[in-house]
Amino acid sequence: MNRVPDLPMRFLSLLFVFPLLAFAAPRTEHVFVISFDGGNPTIIQQAEMPNFKRLASEGACTWKARTILPSKTLPSHTAMLTGVDIAKHQIDWNDFFPLRGYVKVPTVFELLKAAQPNAATALFCGKIKFRHLWKPGTLDVFNCGSTYGPEPIPASEEKKLVPAQAVAAHAVPYILEKKPQLCFIHFPDIDSAGHKSGWGSPEQMVAFKVCDQALGQILGAIEKAGLTASSTLILTADHGGSLKNHFNPIPSDTNIPWVVWGKAAKKQHPITKKSIFTHDTAATILWLFDVPLPANFDGEPVLEAFND
Ligand SMILES: [Zn+2]
Repeated sequence: MNRVPDLPMRFLSLLFVFPLLAFAAPRTEHVFVISFDGGNPTIIQQAEMPNFKRLASEGACTWKARTILPSKTLPSHTAMLTGVDIAKHQIDWNDFFPLRGYVKVPTVFELLKAAQPNAATALFCGKIKFRHLWKPGTLDVFNCGSTYGPEPIPASEEKKLVPAQAVAAHAVPYILEKKPQLCFIHFPDIDSAGHKSGWGSPEQMVAFKVCDQALGQILGAIEKAGLTASSTLILTADHGGSLKNHFNPIPSDTNIPWVVWGKAAKKQHPITKKSIFTHDTAATILWLFDVPLPANFDGEPVLEAFND
């Protein structure tokens, strides 16, 4: 009959244990970043994109985040995935040049792996130039229509372009099987249609719709894998576009959407912070995983978007 005196001790021990548990609890378990190449936020709001719009209205959202200058695909995605502007990451070209090797600053995949070696990381893209962001040991999967190992990309594939539906078709089985901690997915179709037919053209509106269907495939995979409650999604773009291009320093070219949805994200929250940049995506990813930001980071986590 010594049980009663035990109770205060148990209560005290709980007081010690619970704060530690709360401190150690991760903000999220999985982060999916989905980039809509050329996703001009004004046109997204007019397009037939029910999945994108649902996440934007249910989560935290701004249509006025900004990319770097010049607003080009590879420099911008490099900023998005390294947390630093072009002056630091130094990828100032926008094609695949194998001899230039990979980016010289750490990527978010690299920083996460360094902090959490067992974290599964993957990059699924529609343009082979993302290969410049592949560094040995930082990505479990680099997929551009097929999964590439450490061997050089064949010269015949240096202009490879993979449509969104095919990118999603490769990402889906990986998500189901590996349940990755950090998964980046890139859909190129909006940009391709914009360069060919113009931003806002009927042909491009079809591409917006197709990319939203690809997003639907990813959302379906996350759901089927049982990850919905434990995942945070970031929907964004590398640049917008107008007429048939996107490199002018004007809002239609440089504004990008920035949506956070899922675990830890505020619900139905219009983000009011005015200066959100594409490199803040990297900082937000690391903050979600409780990985310290390197000292020279330009990006900062968009704390306003989260409940923490
Ligand atoms: Zn682009």
